[in-house]
Amino acid sequence: MDFKQFILTNEPVIRSCFFFGILGVMAFWEYIAPRRKLTVSKVVRWSNNLAIVFLNNFVVRLVFPVVAVGVASFADQNGWGILNYVELPFWLAAIISIIAMDFVIYLQHVLVHAIPSLWRLHRVHHADLDFDVTTGARFHPLEIILSMLIKFATIIVLGPPVIAVILFEIILNMTAMFNHSNVKLPIAFDKILRLFLVTPDMHRVHHSVEDDEANSNFGFSLPWWDRVFGTYRAQPRQGHEGMVIGIHKIRDIKQVSWLPGMLMLPFKGKVSGYAINRREWNNTDED
Ligand SMILES: [Zn+2]
Ligand SMILES: [Zn+2]
Repeated sequence: MDFKQFILTNEPVIRSCFFFGILGVMAFWEYIAPRRKLTVSKVVRWSNNLAIVFLNNFVVRLVFPVVAVGVASFADQNGWGILNYVELPFWLAAIISIIAMDFVIYLQHVLVHAIPSLWRLHRVHHADLDFDVTTGARFHPLEIILSMLIKFATIIVLGPPVIAVILFEIILNMTAMFNHSNVKLPIAFDKILRLFLVTPDMHRVHHSVEDDEANSNFGFSLPWWDRVFGTYRAQPRQGHEGMVIGIHKIRDIKQVSWLPGMLMLPFKGKVSGYAINRREWNNTDED
């Protein structure tokens, strides 16, 4: 069995090893150097956030006969995608692929904030009342399905090397868990690190209840897209300890911290608030 085949066959195990490995490291880091005091019981949040992760894994296996690596392998065998048309050294094709896929993730993230019905789904990620490593993995199953479809389409158009797709998925998994962590980094170090990588302080701004802050820092791995496209915001107005995490008016524990509430959240209430340029909670009307 060659390396590619090994990865394709053992993809769920490899993915789980990385997930639990990074979860363990970040959880320990959060324990020894927390950035903020958590407001909700960690037992409740963690058990429910992890429950949605397991549910999503199950849903993805049920809905999709292939994983991203399988799609990349298919595109490769059939010569589909831009990078399968041009002769590039492997390393260059891999770097281009990883950067391009990260850019698509940025665009997708802006999209789910801009379109009210997609914001319904993405609210589940933002409704978490605290911001820690488990927030990074909590998404509604329908948003996960949407992400998979966008990822498959990207791979078919781009034709990235199979190894680059594996690397990208591992990198994205690691960076998403890292930059959602409730960890304290020395300010000077954060300042340098965020030139290359989205840091927890940078992404925390995106989880603010304030809509202008929530509509900034969309990047998941590379911080450059926010700077290039004008969505970068260095710090929250209230500071990291003073800022409020979550969504205005959607703060009931049963709704935002327990699995059934989270799964029903996309179907609750009016949704135009928060979606880009649709601020409305300063008006008198209530949801
Ligand atoms: Zn978001
Ligand atoms: Zn986030």
